[in-house]
Amino acid sequence: MTRTPLDGALWLVRHGFPVFPCDHPSTPRCTGLHKTCDGSRGKHPAVAFTRAWTLDERRTHETFARGLRNPAVAVGACSGPGGSRLLVVDSDRPGAIDDVAAAHGQRWPATMRVLTAKGHHDYLWAPPALKLGNGLGALHGQFDGDVRAGNAYVVGPGARHASGALYELADPEQPPVPAPAWLLDALVTKPSFPSRRTRWRDAAPAGGDERARGLVAFILDSRQGDRNNRLFWAACRAAEDVRAGREDPRDALLGAAVRAGLDAREAAATIRSAYNRMGATA
Ligand SMILES: [Zn+2]
Repeated sequence: MTRTPLDGALWLVRHGFPVFPCDHPSTPRCTGLHKTCDGSRGKHPAVAFTRAWTLDERRTHETFARGLRNPAVAVGACSGPGGSRLLVVDSDRPGAIDDVAAAHGQRWPATMRVLTAKGHHDYLWAPPALKLGNGLGALHGQFDGDVRAGNAYVVGPGARHASGALYELADPEQPPVPAPAWLLDALVTKPSFPSRRTRWRDAAPAGGDERARGLVAFILDSRQGDRNNRLFWAACRAAEDVRAGREDPRDALLGAAVRAGLDAREAAATIRSAYNRMGATA
């Protein structure tokens, strides 16, 4: 029922989510507003979305009827019950946020969910007094994904990903629920980096090679339950090195992950996701 950009966009405005057009991968060139395109098709805003969103069905029809734009949600323009603000939790793999909840001794609530190419977007309401942005807070290094709040946007249901995957509502009857307190607590808490056992900074004070050895030691020193989180964190640091022009230690990290007992494909995906997150080429 939301398998086209128009159907998705209409569903959104009828449910009170302000929409705006993004690039659609079927057009020959990216229609994003940006000066230079990074080549990732289907997700660049085609308008100044903080102002140019709409809740009007007719305008939505005009914008999306030809199927040449992806619908997206202007997160900061959404208003929920009691003036609450929209918070979208973007899991880079299915169940990533559910795993974080479990690690906090919690169960992730049933809430509005849009299935994406890699995982899912979970829509939640946050108290208006809370100043949230795109920062992960204490979840930094623990969560395989992102959060979107405030001056942000997410691609919506009915949109087409560059891979051909369709963004789809998991259950059109399920509205967003209030964000759980543990999540809000974590998001407003300063990030803390793992410091148990090996401190790779101590182990790697000097050049790129030593730094890479420190990261490898950090991964090898993982316990079963935190292997993937530690790999993700180490890969984020490695990605920073790559961005700074140092040698790419990815193969060493992958080798260490496999030696630590992780599945090679899963480990490669974790590293890739960390590199993407940090804006390094994966
Ligand atoms: Zn673009």
